Amino acid sequence: MTTKLISIVLPVYNEHEILPTTIQTLEDFVAGQPQDYELIFVDDGSRDYSATIVEHARLKYHNLKLVQFSRNFGHQIAITAGIRYATGDAIVVMDADLQDPPDVIPAMIKKWQDGYQVVYGKRRQRDGETWFKKTSAHWFYRLLDKMTTIQIPTDTGDFRLIDRQVAEVLKTVNEDDPYVRGLVSWVGFRQTAVVYERQERLAGQSKYPLRKMVKLALDGITSFSTMPLKMATWFGGVLVGFGSLFALISLLAGHATNVTLLVFMMCLCSGAILLTIGILGDYLSRIFTASRQRPLYVVANTVGFKQTGAITWQTTAHHDLRKRG
Ligand code: UDP
Ligand code: MG
Repeated sequence: MTTKLISIVLPVYNEHEILPTTIQTLEDFVAGQPQDYELIFVDDGSRDYSATIVEHARLKYHNLKLVQFSRNFGHQIAITAGIRYATGDAIVVMDADLQDPPDVIPAMIKKWQDGYQVVYGKRRQRDGETWFKKTSAHWFYRLLDKMTTIQIPTDTGDFRLIDRQVAEVLKTVNEDDPYVRGLVSWVGFRQTAVVYERQERLAGQSKYPLRKMVKLALDGITSFSTMPLKMATWFGGVLVGFGSLFALISLLAGHATNVTLLVFMMCLCSGAILLTIGILGDYLSRIFTASRQRPLYVVANTVGFKQTGAITWQTTAHHDLRKRG
């Protein structure tokens, strides 16, 4: 049996305070593991010494790799790039601030060996995070779950293991504002969770100010739900209904006045406008969905075909489809 290669992808943005500890901790960890490891640091346009630290550490540890962005493109894009550069049989994505403990990786690998293609880390508790961050994350994940048709597990971040097959599918997805954890759920295959306790950030500040958190939340909603575009239809319907009911009750009660007529007309007109906007939203959502060019479906396996087919309709690369028969 050949030794499996595991890639660890770490997005890095101005983490020079903690990077030496992260590298040392990870190198100590991988030294005791039966698999081979490559550590891919994606420097997301840091303005400190982050990249230099990785380059220096590379002199000692040859399994370190660095992908350096020309500017700050954002956490999700850094992860996307890391997955594209990774060559491992499985890829683990984790934060560079050691909030995702490496000790969880063996449990993830165990599940992977049991046949799961996605093993995501589910947070049991968020140590050292603000009340605001915990509460907003809690409600956001639940709202997203209600708004979308795919199952995006709650209380999970980007700490997860994905199989090579899943990585190959993700490589075909070329969206402007990728919401990686949503895309991983969308891909499908066998997915499971490993529960872990999220640690406190050991050094430095969070690189996720409110502005970036809101952007991430909006990316999550807009890339997996077209509900906001259709909301006008609902408001319009409610207004028209309310106006008509109001007029009807006034008429029946026998005190319909000019004000009744005015309220009725106002509800009807604004309702009609909103309904029309909602219809526009519906068409827009179709154009939007089509413009994302997400593969229509993902094939996990084929049986009885001579040729190894493409895993998605738009890829040309050949994939290990685990052909049988
Ligand atoms: N990060 C990044 N680009 C950014 C912001 C953050 O690559 O624009 C990295 C950061 O260095 C860290 C990970 O993404 O490794 C998670 O960020 P952070 O720890 O600041 O987020 P939090 O844990 O506070 O949600
Ligand atoms: Mg963090």
